[in-house]
Amino acid sequence: METNLLEFIEYHKIDKNDIMDAKGLSISEIKDEMKMNDILFAYNTTPCGNAGHTIRDRHSHCIVCNTANIAFMKRTKQTGHVYIAGSIIKNYIKIGMTTEDPIKRIGKLNSRKVGNTNDWVVIKSIKCDYANMVEFGIQKELQRYKVEGEYYGDNDTESSEMFRCRYKTAIETVEKYFSDKEINKKEEKTYLVNPEKYNNFKNIANPKYL
Ligand SMILES: [Zn+2]
Repeated sequence: METNLLEFIEYHKIDKNDIMDAKGLSISEIKDEMKMNDILFAYNTTPCGNAGHTIRDRHSHCIVCNTANIAFMKRTKQTGHVYIAGSIIKNYIKIGMTTEDPIKRIGKLNSRKVGNTNDWVVIKSIKCDYANMVEFGIQKELQRYKVEGEYYGDNDTESSEMFRCRYKTAIETVEKYFSDKEINKKEEKTYLVNPEKYNNFKNIANPKYL
């Protein structure tokens, strides 16, 4: 490896297991290899259109031109807790992901009044790898119940994580997702003895997603 390549890898704290040499490989061979071995980046790729850099991420983006992609790609691999929370006041279910303790995370959501309420309670959490991907996948499955138009503070990405559905629908979707995709549960926690009151919510489909 060239010195400046090594420096780049070290500076951006790229794990050696997350990067491969693409020299002599076709684009489809590189893609297959990355997919099969969970590799995020490749060097000795075709030069980027901007400045001829030869380090790209799995989606073929030049990571020298746009170093933000490095953190983004690393985050996709992160281990975390995918959790289900509920608000009785709003009749909302929230699917989220956090690398910290879910209880602590929910405390922050309540103090920021996410979804215009502060009665969020964690009902269930599952620790897994690729927690971001799992979170997005489950949110996509529940999309038809998505809450829209609840804005708060300076960060409304979390608005897309709230759903008008009963807990039973959420937990069944989560369990099905884990078993269909054969995702390993590293740890599982149920926080409420009786989540029954979160089952009284109605499943309300958003016409936009029907
Ligand atoms: Zn570039």
